[in-house]
Amino acid sequence: MTEPAASSGQQPGTDGQAPGAAVPPRQGLPARARVVIVGGGIIGTSVAYHLAHLGWTDVLLLERDRLTSGTTWHAAGLIATFGSTSQTSTELRQYTRDLYARLEAETGLATGLKQCGLIELAVEPGRLEEYRRVAAFNRHCGVDVHEIGPREVAGLWPLARTDDVLAGFYIPADGRVNPVDVTMSLAKGARMLGVRIIEGAAVTGFLRDRGVVTGVRTAGGDIEAEYVVNCAGMWARQLGELAGVAIPLQAAEHYYLLTEPIDGVDGALPVLEDPASYGYYREEGGGLMIGLFEPVCAPWRVDAIPQDFSFGELPPDWDRMAPYLETTMARIPVTAQAGIRKFFCGPESFTPDLLPIVGEAPELRNYFVAAGLNSIGILTGGGIGRTVAQWIASGDPGIDVTGINIDRLHPYQANPEYRATRTVESLGLVYATHYPFRPTRTARGARRSPIYDRLAAERACFRDVSGWEGADWYAPDGVEPDPGELSWGRPHWFGYWAAEHQAARDGVILMDMSFMAKFEVQGQDAAAQLERISANRVAGQPGRITYTQWLNERGTLEADLTVTQLDDDRFFVVASDTAHRHAQTWMRRHFGDSRAFVTDVTSGYAQLNVQGPLSRDLLSAVTSADMSGDAFPFRAARYIDIGFARVLCIRITYLGELGYELHIPAEQAAAVYDRLVAAGRPLGLRHAGLKALASLRMEKGYRDYGHDIDNTDTVLEAGLGFAVAMDKPGGFIGRDAVLAQKAGGPLARRLVQVLLADPEPLLFHAEIVSRNGKPAGYIRSASYGFTLGGAVGLAMIDAGQPIDQAYVASGEWTVQVGAAVHEATASLRPLYDPAGKRVQM
Ligand SMILES: Cc1cc2nc3c(=O)[nH]c(=O)nc-3n(C[C@H](O)[C@H](O)[C@H](O)COP(=O)(O)OP(=O)(O)OC[C@H]3O[C@@H](n4cnc5c(N)ncnc54)[C@H](O)[C@@H]3O)c2cc1C
Repeated sequence: MTEPAASSGQQPGTDGQAPGAAVPPRQGLPARARVVIVGGGIIGTSVAYHLAHLGWTDVLLLERDRLTSGTTWHAAGLIATFGSTSQTSTELRQYTRDLYARLEAETGLATGLKQCGLIELAVEPGRLEEYRRVAAFNRHCGVDVHEIGPREVAGLWPLARTDDVLAGFYIPADGRVNPVDVTMSLAKGARMLGVRIIEGAAVTGFLRDRGVVTGVRTAGGDIEAEYVVNCAGMWARQLGELAGVAIPLQAAEHYYLLTEPIDGVDGALPVLEDPASYGYYREEGGGLMIGLFEPVCAPWRVDAIPQDFSFGELPPDWDRMAPYLETTMARIPVTAQAGIRKFFCGPESFTPDLLPIVGEAPELRNYFVAAGLNSIGILTGGGIGRTVAQWIASGDPGIDVTGINIDRLHPYQANPEYRATRTVESLGLVYATHYPFRPTRTARGARRSPIYDRLAAERACFRDVSGWEGADWYAPDGVEPDPGELSWGRPHWFGYWAAEHQAARDGVILMDMSFMAKFEVQGQDAAAQLERISANRVAGQPGRITYTQWLNERGTLEADLTVTQLDDDRFFVVASDTAHRHAQTWMRRHFGDSRAFVTDVTSGYAQLNVQGPLSRDLLSAVTSADMSGDAFPFRAARYIDIGFARVLCIRITYLGELGYELHIPAEQAAAVYDRLVAAGRPLGLRHAGLKALASLRMEKGYRDYGHDIDNTDTVLEAGLGFAVAMDKPGGFIGRDAVLAQKAGGPLARRLVQVLLADPEPLLFHAEIVSRNGKPAGYIRSASYGFTLGGAVGLAMIDAGQPIDQAYVASGEWTVQVGAAVHEATASLRPLYDPAGKRVQM
């Protein structure tokens, strides 16, 4: 039976209809379509266009008003392929520009694309360093970007002040489009292939049946659908509520002004961006369009976006914007004399982490979302549409979606207070220098571990870890636990971090990891179901933890986690914070109607990790359990007593030493912590933070899903073949694909650990790795190897030839950091303790 979706929001989503009563469609609206797309902005039309090109032509796009009437109509239309160190974002941008360049030939409708070039200005050393790093990465991805000096900038942009310019980054093929024209062209392309687009038809609710969306509700009747795609821009959150889907985006004011015509300004002028002045500049009607990204911005209508807001403008807040405007206009001095034709303010959607919200909703099957574009919806719109269309049609988005998947976000982030607080920071971050370790400053304290206050008393410097306050490093007495000034060099806390790292290698450390996602899986079918989705053998030995991956049918990674068997029919699954909802949804959907039940117990247990060669001594001092190596071997999991608490103690490590994870009932966590700290004093116990975790695990080459491995990698390419039980009875999802890849012979694409020879430079992410002078890949994530004596990272190497130990050993490896090239060592085996002796101690 088809049921209307529960409305968790203010108004019922059923338009006054009786629940469940199907309303016949009004004339002109079809009764069904395979896919219904809600929203006719750049994103909705792009999804429609790409579905049609994949042969999915039974597609209906419903637009509340007229196409582009939301945000798209007033976008500035900047097209920039330069600017990101994310492969996903760079691919989305490149594909989008290429698409817009060829669309007119296909549809006969121009897009207004002018490849007049784009220049990004660097006027501070930190920004110059950032752009050099971005430029190297973007070039590796195929973007044609040139670093030019101030004189060349002045030659291309004679009206700009260049006396303070350190460099410009010039991309000749970037430029601008007309967003309305692009949307119309995409819509025409979709229509030409059979897509129906109906304007003036608002979706007022959703139909669903046992966790699957089955259609949409409109004033003109219900329309059945196999898939629904919510592309409703800033309305997407409200619309999501009608389906019980949390889409935490928020509209904010976004400004540009238009000047009267200015001598020397014409359509050939490249687009200019000067983030230090909060501004971008391009020609418009013989004058300039000057856009702003102010550092502190203003959310708009946190309560709800009005349903009748079409082709709308917001009254500009001159008082708030005046100081920024002055700085922005000072870059082009002539604008002080130019008349202002229009000061425009329109709303744009922002998300908690400045990344778009894309993918299938964890709450509702076949309900896809593509919204929250953070002011780059035009320049990524083509790529977003293609990604969503592929995802629907084949289940494979085709790119790394770990950072943009809707399931990385949590329902509490849709709370009005959260949105109002976080969005203040969002828009400004677009133009901030993207220094490493930049802390999020707003909406802090949303989630706290039960021992948060104790860690604060230990002078923890906290950072936002999926909304949790995660202890990053600890300041000694007399030092403020503050990240300090941001830079590309060593932070002021480098030495404290080193000491925590060393304590884990030589002594014992305590680390709060309560933010880890934890699930109990129980029931008669729990073992069989977990075996089916796990590449490793996870059942058969109660009291044992197993490291495993979950694969899709293509053999690429969906999750990387541990499964501990507690009893014949009871398991404990632990995944990283960012994979929380993905892992949960993966289990729920694959377990189906079987007798395997998943309970999210993340909030029920604190997780304290006790790690290092003295960790056994510490635990022996607080428990009556036998912690000896024979009684409690590596991978054992037992309940032990610590004071009044019964604690699930698992002997496992994510940093390469003897160590234990303690899962403690939340209400007893503080007492257990106190015992550990007291008993640890004579052993020199040290608190260690997440920076130490990162450096320790990176030395050991342990992977982190969503950072150095993702949904585009096979388990073999990720170097995790050792965790695959090819011959386990019944097999597992993805086994055939693994088998096929094995049969194909040695891999030409593999994750490789890289260590810089020079101890001075740091690695962060996206630095280009070369073999014998030829670019072979880039650093996916990195840290500093205090034990190895240099920066260390993991890079996916695409060699075009088999990658084995001989290939790695015979090459001369280098890594480009900014403008410098550094010698490096590469290895397929962990550079720290390759035989794993320390773990087995
Ligand atoms: C001032 C400004 C300048 C910008 N400049 C740039 C730029 O230079 N480059 C760039 O890449 N991006 C830019 N952007 C961002 C860009 O405009 C957006 O990211 C993009 O337009 C978002 O597209 P969308 O399709 O998600 O949303 P929208 O264009 O808002 O489309 C959503 C559609 O859904 C419809 N809808 C809503 N509810 C319903 C319903 N219930 N039923 C049916 N339909 C519904 C709406 O009517 C609307 O047409 C700018 C934004 C602003 C505000």
